[in-house]
Amino acid sequence: LCKPLLFMLLFKKVKDLKSFLSKERKNDKTIGFTPTMGALHNGHMSLVQRSIEETDISICSIFVNPTQFDDKKDLKKYPRTTGKDLDLLESIGTHVVFLPSVEEIYPNGQNTGHGFDFGDMAKHMEGAHRNGHFDGMAQVVKRLLEIVAPNFIFMGQKDYQQQALVNVMLQQMKSDCKLVRCDIIREPDGLAMSSRNVRLNKEDRKTAGKISETLRFAKEEAKILSLEKVKANSLKRLDIPQFSVDYFEIINAFTLQSITEFGDAESVVACTTVQIGGVRLLDNMILK
Ligand code: AMP
Repeated sequence: LCKPLLFMLLFKKVKDLKSFLSKERKNDKTIGFTPTMGALHNGHMSLVQRSIEETDISICSIFVNPTQFDDKKDLKKYPRTTGKDLDLLESIGTHVVFLPSVEEIYPNGQNTGHGFDFGDMAKHMEGAHRNGHFDGMAQVVKRLLEIVAPNFIFMGQKDYQQQALVNVMLQQMKSDCKLVRCDIIREPDGLAMSSRNVRLNKEDRKTAGKISETLRFAKEEAKILSLEKVKANSLKRLDIPQFSVDYFEIINAFTLQSITEFGDAESVVACTTVQIGGVRLLDNMILK
């Protein structure tokens, strides 16, 4: 029995990656792109897997973007497991990994801005709790999109507000790139997979399952109760001593604006972020 030979290309320089991709583009190959900050888990891998299935060349970037961390301690503590990440990516047949340095991404310094107008979409939820986070996110995604120029970008529903903002960016850039929103991959107890989960202690890890449980209850209750009641019940369920709830919002799934009744929007999503032992955990569920 022969093990299939896998060749995964690793690029660290923008110039080299661009020249490789431009040749592939000339051969009419479609390019699928999955941007990540590494410490890869099955959630990330599901995005790359989908890219492998749906595009000719799948490229995954690993770059812990300093400009999207308002808390420099969080940036320092962010898990970095590059060797393991590369093994995982190679094992599923990823074609290309992009592992740039901060200087490659920001040759003109980190204060270059992004130029997008997100209106109210970036002001609440993560925008309200992480100062400058979405500016940093937009800055790096814009730069990565310019470098990779993919046909498809694969992003997780897990970061609901983020993927909605990237969609706005693609529209404002008049880009042909399509965003593919991928489902949230969860642990057996329902906790959304996250690179930050490893920082939870044993006790907090157990309790963290209550976040997705609350969202599942909310989805059931949304069929029979008012929005106000669903929100109140959810906040009650999250009222646990170890939890500090940053927000629990029920919003229009397209505009991200808060609504007061389920009838106010065609599609509705509940988004929450809870801090447990100093670890911020995001989750959401589409209610209808
Ligand atoms: P990050 O490395 O946290 O920046 O995430 C990179 C991409 O993986 C983003 O598009 C995330 O939404 C996505 N992602 C993170 N966790 C999950 C998950 N549990 N399920 C699906 N996608 C995820």
